[in-house]
Amino acid sequence: MKFLPVFMNVRRQPCLVVGGGEVAARKVELIRRAEAKVTVIAPELCDSLAELAREGHITHRASSFTGADMAGYALVIAATDDSAANRQVSEAARAQHIPVNVVDQPEMCTFIMPSIIDRSPIVIAVSSGGASPVLARLLRARLETFVPAAYGRLAALVERFRADVKLKFKTTRARRRFWEKVLQGPIAEMLLAGRDEAAQAALDKAIMQEPESRQALGEVYVVGGGPGDPDLLTFRALRLMQQADVVLYDRLIAKGVLDLVRRDAERIYVGKARDFHAVRQEEIHDLMVKLAKEGKRVLRLKGGDPFIFGRGGEEIDSLAEEGVPFQIVPGVTAASGCAAYAGIPLTHRDYAQSCIFVTGHLQDGTINLKWDTLVQPQQTVVIYMGLKGLSMICHELIAHGMSPAMPAALVEHGTTAKQRVFIGNLSTLPSIVETADVHAPTLVIVGEVVRLHKKLAWFEPAAQPPDSKAAEQVGE
Ligand code: SAH
Repeated sequence: MKFLPVFMNVRRQPCLVVGGGEVAARKVELIRRAEAKVTVIAPELCDSLAELAREGHITHRASSFTGADMAGYALVIAATDDSAANRQVSEAARAQHIPVNVVDQPEMCTFIMPSIIDRSPIVIAVSSGGASPVLARLLRARLETFVPAAYGRLAALVERFRADVKLKFKTTRARRRFWEKVLQGPIAEMLLAGRDEAAQAALDKAIMQEPESRQALGEVYVVGGGPGDPDLLTFRALRLMQQADVVLYDRLIAKGVLDLVRRDAERIYVGKARDFHAVRQEEIHDLMVKLAKEGKRVLRLKGGDPFIFGRGGEEIDSLAEEGVPFQIVPGVTAASGCAAYAGIPLTHRDYAQSCIFVTGHLQDGTINLKWDTLVQPQQTVVIYMGLKGLSMICHELIAHGMSPAMPAALVEHGTTAKQRVFIGNLSTLPSIVETADVHAPTLVIVGEVVRLHKKLAWFEPAAQPPDSKAAEQVGE
């Protein structure tokens, strides 16, 4: 982050704007919205500023900036069209540690002004750190369209009742829950629909009637976090991630995905490596039950899809037995993610009418697949956790009748900035992989469809932000 986003209280604070043109006028208007006491230094004022001065809304000093009268201002904005003058203002302000903004000259600023969406008291600020104000403005326009104008009134309603709610509910958690219920339920809908009085009455009633300390049973959300790229999350996954009190995650969860979990949620790492179990499966079950019984909303965040080689079934089993409510959110499984991002369709009318997912790693560490089922014409075979046993798998497929020339691919860190795709066939892939210093997680795809990669590959890992990469210690 180049700039720290903060919202500054300038109410009744003296603020200085140097410059009297239209650009200065826009800045004046903005800081006046935050109720600052504005002084403008400029030899002349444009019409709109002159009017404000006449009506006594701003103080005008009809002179050039000299650098003498800087003291006492809460912030300073330089908006002249003379860059030497702007620099002088910036230097004078910085010498006194007064926050200063020079319009369109980020290098002279100690703060920059973001694009804003004003639904006061809700204000959304978007900044590109000076890299591209146009992009920030375009993003702002998009946000405008899905933040209803009534959000400001909704926040104002909450503000009016905050003290009452604080009095009634003793813990932060109880208060948060109450507000979440209100803001996601019929009361908020009433207000957004313009029925402000009805909403207010309903809120009043809800505060009276809501039992004070009902120890609600928590809930467990078993959520598929997809194969790595955070863009592949579902809306539901994101919504639940943002309301969880605690998250249990394992090795496969990409950093970019974990970053989207509510910031103040407790994070518990329960990762499993192939031969080393950080937290035993039963302990994970017990922990989830315990946390939910404490009334927490527990997010069990799993790589890919929870029901595909993810032990989702086992984990839910224990929740069901203990009567803990849960919901399951599917995720993009590694096979879909890697296939898509490697440009290898898993089925194709010319090459494969079926596709089979298998795991190359069994509970006891051996590989014991039904080889004959895998060696079928017109079928794509996807092997999860197949890196360690790759040579053996290729060898067995050939031994059971598959052509040694059958195309095969290995996708490493699929869908992330670190994605690599290795293409070969059953006889060459193991040695290709061996020389390439490959790390888990990897997915193996065997079948004629692999030929299509050459034509259909589209994804450029190098163009991805580095934090979308899978967690460093990802394991099989
Ligand atoms: N539930 C997960 C699979 C868990 S098993 C899912 O639906 O995807 C873990 C295996 O998934 C890894 O060993 C690897 O074979 C595969 N895998 C998961 N993420 C991957 C990725 N980003 N790239 C390649 N393979 C991945």
